[in-house]
Amino acid sequence: MSLKGRAVLITAGPTREPLDPVRYLSNSSSGKMGYALAAAARRRGARVLLVTGPTALAAPSGVRAVRVTTAREMLAACLRALPGTDLVIGAAAVADWRPARVSAGKLKKRAGGGAMTLRLTPNPDILAALAARRTGGRPRLVGFALETSERLARARDKMRRKGLDMIVANGPEALDGDRSTIDVLLPDGRRWSRSGTKAALADEIVQAAEALG
Ligand code: C5P
Repeated sequence: MSLKGRAVLITAGPTREPLDPVRYLSNSSSGKMGYALAAAARRRGARVLLVTGPTALAAPSGVRAVRVTTAREMLAACLRALPGTDLVIGAAAVADWRPARVSAGKLKKRAGGGAMTLRLTPNPDILAALAARRTGGRPRLVGFALETSERLARARDKMRRKGLDMIVANGPEALDGDRSTIDVLLPDGRRWSRSGTKAALADEIVQAAEALG
């Protein structure tokens, strides 16, 4: 499938899950890989929608960006965009949990300096939700797996569980740098690895996504 004129949806960046009006749970995703993928898909002629959590980055030129904060907002934006989308690349580092309760006022220290317990509730899985809604294998779905150990086995398992057509595995060193090392896995067992700048890797990932047909 050539991406020329195709609708591509890319998620990027972290999500932020509020605890109170001034605090949140998040992670150190910079969004660089997702933004590089958006630029790469655009270079190949796609119509790109970037659904992005909070980052310091400017949207690549020619890319439409929707800025969201929480995982649930990211899911809603993706579901709105889903009809007519040909390819989804989930590069966002979505927070797995959110505080079960968001305090209306700033949380106070305990009298006497006592410990504080946070109750967390699971966030929706955006890629799995999109996979559940697709028909005839469309759109194609590509995910990422950031693993600190057993990278390939865990990535393969994630690809199966989420119903993905391809998964890109990387390690925690990918989070904020300009370079990364990736392993790309396909459901039929094919696999390849590359190291390089995120811009170069993004080009390769987008070409591999095109080759999914
Ligand atoms: O399960 P895990 O977070 O490791 O999966 C990573 C992949 O799933 C990434 O592609 C990420 O964007 C996507 N994901 C998602 N919604 C979540 C968690 C992860 O779409 N709630």
